[in-house]
Amino acid sequence: MPENEFRQVPLLDLKEEWKLMRTSGIEKIVEVLDSGQYILGEKGRELEIRTADYLNVPYSLGVASGTDALQLALKALDIGPGDEVITSPFTFFATGEVIVQEGAKPVFVDIDPVTYNLNPAKIEEAITQNTKAIMVVHLYGQVANMGEIMDIAQKHNLKVIEDACQAMGAEYEGKKAGTIGDIGCFSFFPTKNLGAFGDAGLVVTSQQELYEKVHSLRNHGSQKNYQHSLIGMNSRLDELQAAILLIKIDYLEGFLTRRNEIARRYTEKFKNKVKTPPIVRNREHTFHQYCIELDNRNELAKELKNNGIDSAIYYLIPLHLQEAFHYLGYKEGDFPNAEHTAKRILALPINPTLSVEKQNYVIKSVLHFLDYNG
Ligand SMILES: *Cc1c(COP(=O)(O)O)cnc(C)c1O
Repeated sequence: MPENEFRQVPLLDLKEEWKLMRTSGIEKIVEVLDSGQYILGEKGRELEIRTADYLNVPYSLGVASGTDALQLALKALDIGPGDEVITSPFTFFATGEVIVQEGAKPVFVDIDPVTYNLNPAKIEEAITQNTKAIMVVHLYGQVANMGEIMDIAQKHNLKVIEDACQAMGAEYEGKKAGTIGDIGCFSFFPTKNLGAFGDAGLVVTSQQELYEKVHSLRNHGSQKNYQHSLIGMNSRLDELQAAILLIKIDYLEGFLTRRNEIARRYTEKFKNKVKTPPIVRNREHTFHQYCIELDNRNELAKELKNNGIDSAIYYLIPLHLQEAFHYLGYKEGDFPNAEHTAKRILALPINPTLSVEKQNYVIKSVLHFLDYNG
């Protein structure tokens, strides 16, 4: 077993990232505290302009979380009771949860086992008269097959919501994730590609009508003080989070480059031994997660843990087998690709501050395991 040169290799090290921006960060935070404006102020507006510019999309709105962004998208598209929304069973729980929160029914469609994203070839057979939208997830930071998905949506007159919570900065044929469908949703949860120091999220769109609706919905359906035209939510981005995100957005491209460099190194070493993340032509992956697939991933996770290396399973239970979705009537075997992947996937440490020494230690430990247990 490789000698443990480090006490710990975490999946992500947010303290290290903060050190890089501590001085300017504290200055910006104090600016907010001194301003007396804490919600829906100048910093939030500035962040909306910066993200719209970065993503090359006309409209951008700060909200309270990625989950809220998804829920606001459904509300803005008038999706509710009696409606069905097609989505992936292999994603974070919130993707399916918000559909139910809005009174609609999630309809799962199996993933493509190569990219882990919705398989467009399976979508049409799931469409019914009640289908209103496709909620597509760009898992691990790689954009789904948006070309085919948009074609299907157009043909059947469906809306497309992009759950781009893991894919800030990812691209599909030169377009940024989140800007291809009707509405794009991002999370600024601290561990995401662009993370705040608390909960925060973003909604983007090219359609003025949807922008105006979300603008109102995030603030209790109100455009003018104490006049409410819609039933909305309290889902506003606060100024402290906006200030922190304005600092961090300057680091985003550099951080994504670092993630890609680390992914390339890992793949170079692992590719002949386990299934490594696919690189698809015309798509820019952000490696929000770097996941390998192998039969004995639990044993690998255990050995890594013994070596002080963190790993994680995204996701252990596909949504259709979650207890909360039991009432939908799905059973084991309904989505074989999602189920097979859930049993074999393992995320390795990847983050912009992961040193070459630590990368090497991860590589050595994984290879050691594979050579003896592969
Ligand atoms: C993180 C995440 C969300 C939820 O975002 P929050 O900001 O935590 O509410 C939704 N979907 C996916 C795929 C995510 O990774």
